[in-house]
Amino acid sequence: MPTPYTEEHELFRKQVRAFAEKELRPNVDAWEKDRTFPNWVFKKAGELGITGAHYPEDVGGGGGDYWFSVVKAEELVRCEAAGVTMALLVQSDMATPCINELGTKEQKEEFLRPALEGDKIAALGVTEPGAGSDVAGIRTTARLVGDEYVIDGAKTYITNGTRADFVTLLVKTDPEAGYGGISILLFPTDTKGFAVSKKLEKIGNHSSDTAELFFDGCRIPKRYLLGEENKGFQYLMQNFQSERLIGSTSALAAAKWGLDRSVAYGKERKAFGKPIMARESWKHTFADLYTKAQAGRTLCYDAVTDFNQERYIDETDISFETVKKIAMCKLFVGDVTTEVMDTCLQFHGGMGYLEELWVARAWRDQRLFRIGGGTSEVMKYMIAKLMGW
Ligand SMILES: Cc1cc2nc3c(=O)[nH]c(=O)nc-3n(C[C@H](O)[C@H](O)[C@H](O)COP(=O)(O)OP(=O)(O)OC[C@H]3O[C@@H](n4cnc5c(N)ncnc54)[C@H](O)[C@@H]3O)c2cc1C
Repeated sequence: MPTPYTEEHELFRKQVRAFAEKELRPNVDAWEKDRTFPNWVFKKAGELGITGAHYPEDVGGGGGDYWFSVVKAEELVRCEAAGVTMALLVQSDMATPCINELGTKEQKEEFLRPALEGDKIAALGVTEPGAGSDVAGIRTTARLVGDEYVIDGAKTYITNGTRADFVTLLVKTDPEAGYGGISILLFPTDTKGFAVSKKLEKIGNHSSDTAELFFDGCRIPKRYLLGEENKGFQYLMQNFQSERLIGSTSALAAAKWGLDRSVAYGKERKAFGKPIMARESWKHTFADLYTKAQAGRTLCYDAVTDFNQERYIDETDISFETVKKIAMCKLFVGDVTTEVMDTCLQFHGGMGYLEELWVARAWRDQRLFRIGGGTSEVMKYMIAKLMGW
């Protein structure tokens, strides 16, 4: 399949790969054990221009198109810890795109630029204990009192939550108005009344931190409202597209890499006198999985082409057709990645079940993709809705 990658994209690919393999990979086993990684990773990714490659130069980015972000997602998987990758993608593609789209010059200088340069860590605060898939059910409120918003409520499962300098925060500004009463605020975490109430223990993605956040009468200036009041749901739906698309390309890259590594292993590992990869049954299994991975890539690259055109070239809103394609990517890639990782684990026999091998971590890390950023069931619900059913 022809790709739109230029020499610049390929140079960037080399740079991200070197960062992942030389600076991250040697450390990730320790970080996984520690259940965290140091903040210099955000700083270094910012300094190298990895975080902001696809943002405009006037906000501290590299001025590239969306394919730079795809290259980044494809190469970061080589650090072999999806927790680190996810934390960096939250910073670059989940908590920040809406600031670039909607932010005032001052907001971009205060929040976006330092995030892209690695001086501030960002988190996206949407999910709550009582509302995940059903975003309109959030109960964190922001009341306008004079020139300040007063925020009360809680968020959960927030990636980068224990150390974020600011949260791109979804709140109810009109609790009676459902979807039409939601807004996005840029919330500095040094605000009085804010607390990280719990660091959550997960079955995978160990090196990323995931937190419950608590807001008790937190006051922030009105100028931290992003875009217009009560349009937050609409904004978030646009922002989700970037999150889902980059998540899909990252998960798919992890799956493809897992397949390549497994096949290489199977050519060496012998059982009953010949390499296990010489068995017809495994050849067919891998033929199926490579076909599914290729189908996933075609789906993703098609959606990226549209997204890049609409967001980076036309600078329009993302069309429903592209939203549908992105939901299809997330749904399909979620299933393919889960199947690939499970098969790779099985293919390695007892070794596959050991912590010391890459496959065990990849198996549990990638399982998240069918849940985070919108579950597979919600993707089906969206696709059906967008088909007019
Ligand atoms: C490791 C991790 C990191 C995360 N990071 C972030 C983050 O940084 N920021 C953030 O805001 N959130 C984050 N999340 C939250 C994540 O996006 C939510 O968990 C996800 O959207 C699902 O919401 P929920 O957990 O409340 O599940 P629920 O909404 O309670 O869903 C429970 C089940 O019901 C199903 N369901 C729901 N609605 C429908 C429907 N209409 N039709 C059929 N089935 C349905 C779901 O598919 C699921 O199987 C993270 C989660 C995890 C686990």
